[in-house]
Amino acid sequence: MKAQLCTRIDKIENHPLIYTTVSTPNPQPDQVLIKVKACGVCYSNLHMIEGELKQFGVPAKLPIIPGHEVTGVIEEIGAQAKGYEKGDRVGVQVLWKTDGTCEFCLSGRENLCLKRQTTGEVVDGGYAEYMVAPAAFTHRLPDNLGFEESASLFCPGITAYHAIKRANVRVGQKVAVIGIGGVGHMSLQFAKLAGAETIAVDTSEAKLQLAQDIGADHALTAVELDKFTVDNGRPDVIMVHAPSQRAVEQALRLVKRGGIVLMGVCGDASVQFPEEYSIVGSVIGTRQEMNDVLKIASIGKVRVDWSVYRLSEAENVLIKLKQGKIVGRAILVP
Ligand SMILES: [Zn+2]
Ligand SMILES: [Zn+2]
Repeated sequence: MKAQLCTRIDKIENHPLIYTTVSTPNPQPDQVLIKVKACGVCYSNLHMIEGELKQFGVPAKLPIIPGHEVTGVIEEIGAQAKGYEKGDRVGVQVLWKTDGTCEFCLSGRENLCLKRQTTGEVVDGGYAEYMVAPAAFTHRLPDNLGFEESASLFCPGITAYHAIKRANVRVGQKVAVIGIGGVGHMSLQFAKLAGAETIAVDTSEAKLQLAQDIGADHALTAVELDKFTVDNGRPDVIMVHAPSQRAVEQALRLVKRGGIVLMGVCGDASVQFPEEYSIVGSVIGTRQEMNDVLKIASIGKVRVDWSVYRLSEAENVLIKLKQGKIVGRAILVP
């Protein structure tokens, strides 16, 4: 099969990603083989390829096929894999497998599993024509959602949904989302759905336009956010989705006393005494949360903004993403 193979850790411009032919994987007894129809391109794919996730043991192997927001069709079913038939439309999220026995798995927080395996980071992912996944970690797509539109529900969608819950967003709060990319444009919608007044913050006019199209109450540049907080009060919650230390620092500076800064990117953040606010981390979500997101999207409460590229174009897409030139989500199609 054709696949994009990350062969080494390096800057994307130095071509660590190679479009090549590899053998099609065989499903283990508990797995299904999925013919990939669409795979989203995530900033964390770039972080992995460029070595910024090494401290977390990612990638766990090299070479590796990246890609962790995947939709497709069941092609083959392992002997003990249950619940699917050939041809079923499914998706795979970042959480590829857990041990099912640790304290986190047993307490409804399987996204924190100590032995979790993540798609395209620990095992091969969706930048390919085929991939395997445990049947138990594969999600059925609602009939009314297309492969391309639903692919990014499997990372930005669930990441944003879990983050909004982690940030405890409530009716009537003011929530600023810094960085209206793949995750940011979903966080904005979930915050609005939770009843918050939403403030979209980005440097790109196209992304601010997208924010307005999906219902942001305010769409501001970073400079305008400073003035906005003086005139209108500080946000109760600031969600940082822009991969920039400056964005992190702005959030820490502007969050309301007692508020929450949700860290959706790598960056340095700390609380200085005598300040009082919380810095909250959030990482992907559980299978139940994934099912919630699919249901919410299928009834039209959130929508994904996406554009389609060929699988062979992955390197270019990642470079564009790095340059901030992708609006909404880029989706690779084999
Ligand atoms: Zn992702
Ligand atoms: Zn576990």
